[in-house]
Amino acid sequence: MSVVKSIKLVLLGEAAVGKSSLVLRFVSNEFQENKEPTIGAAFLTQRCSVNQTTVKFEIWDTAGQERFASLAPMYYRNAQAALVVYDLTKPGSFIKARHWIKELHEQANSADMVIFLVGNKLDLVEEDEEQRKISREDGEALAKEEGCFFMETSAKNSINVNDVFTKIAEEFLKK
Ligand code: GDP
Ligand code: MG
Repeated sequence: MSVVKSIKLVLLGEAAVGKSSLVLRFVSNEFQENKEPTIGAAFLTQRCSVNQTTVKFEIWDTAGQERFASLAPMYYRNAQAALVVYDLTKPGSFIKARHWIKELHEQANSADMVIFLVGNKLDLVEEDEEQRKISREDGEALAKEEGCFFMETSAKNSINVNDVFTKIAEEFLKK
């Protein structure tokens, strides 16, 4: 009999960086070119096996719009993992990601939390390097500074998406 452990995960980040698309890729292995914006927050689940243990992700996908920002603490307060997402082609979204990580450290139970910084839309950058506005080094440096994990992903081309969730599951089981 395998063991099932539940983990609450919250997604944070500016609107349109691809939070919902990362979840859709992880949960359904799909991608939508014109994904409708999330209102408030959406709840989804997915399982992931690590050795003999099944980790059941309970995912709160929040809306990135400023008018929903005050709701975020409700979702991250009880979370054991946070995925902070920015868009590799949008400098403002990286600044916002930095703010979210700082807020998690100040407000959330961050000592027990697995925090993952994700630079999304890697496909756009691979297609045309001119599109890249945040270097991989800058992403890595922020993650190191803040003690979080880091990966660049593409929800569209399914690059590193499962790896992010698997790594979170592994780190969660170590805690
Ligand atoms: P959210 O507001 O952070 O949840 O962002 P969405 O998941 O709604 O995505 C916003 C837009 O970016 C949508 O048009 C998506 O199709 C697109 N998008 C999301 N992820 C990627 C990606 O990895 N690559 C590309 N090229 N577009 C993406
Ligand atoms: Mg969304």
